[in-house]
Amino acid sequence: MKNHQLFIKCLNIGPFEVNTYIAACPQTLEGIIIDPGGEDERIIHIINKNNIHPKYIINTHGHRDHVHSNVSLSDIYNIPVCMHVDDKDFFLKKTEHQDIKIKKNYAIDIDLHHCDELQLGNFKIKIIHTPGHTPGSICLYISNCLFSGDTLFVGGAGRTDLPGGDLDGLIQSIKNQIIPLPPDTIVYPGHDYGDTPVSTIGREIKKNIYITDFISP
Ligand SMILES: [Zn+2]
Ligand SMILES: [Zn+2]
Repeated sequence: MKNHQLFIKCLNIGPFEVNTYIAACPQTLEGIIIDPGGEDERIIHIINKNNIHPKYIINTHGHRDHVHSNVSLSDIYNIPVCMHVDDKDFFLKKTEHQDIKIKKNYAIDIDLHHCDELQLGNFKIKIIHTPGHTPGSICLYISNCLFSGDTLFVGGAGRTDLPGGDLDGLIQSIKNQIIPLPPDTIVYPGHDYGDTPVSTIGREIKKNIYITDFISP
């Protein structure tokens, strides 16, 4: 599985073992940090070692483990934090009575919407809204890569029993937004729960029980 030259490094971070990705355009070295889960020094090390210039922090959704370093890294690099507007609203409300430190991670700079596009060097980041795991879950589609957050895992999908979860919505998102992508699209999930760290849409269509049992006839 070879992606079309996008630089990608994955770090498995924190007690919930979130996959934090650093992705960059290899020509311009412009980069993004996807779901910064903590352990900032490990993220910074990758960025420094590869001379990457971070441009955005993007959260695939608002669960606390995926936004843990929003504030610290956006301060260090002076870059905006981006999240789908539905999760921003949902989690801001949810953290109403919580610690100011937790709340601060939802002070989002750029509200994302379905089909928004962000420039990353010579690449385009396409925002695909995939509600189900949370109301504002998104997948990031860049070149032939899909950063699927907790919407689609290798062999599985995100849980829908937490507040804001919706199994029917999740199935519709996978069916309407993910399955139609080219089969050789490489899937980079939000957690390494499968038999291999990355997969392809084609492989998931054949093997993922959420697709084989709920969607395929
Ligand atoms: Zn989650
Ligand atoms: Zn997660």
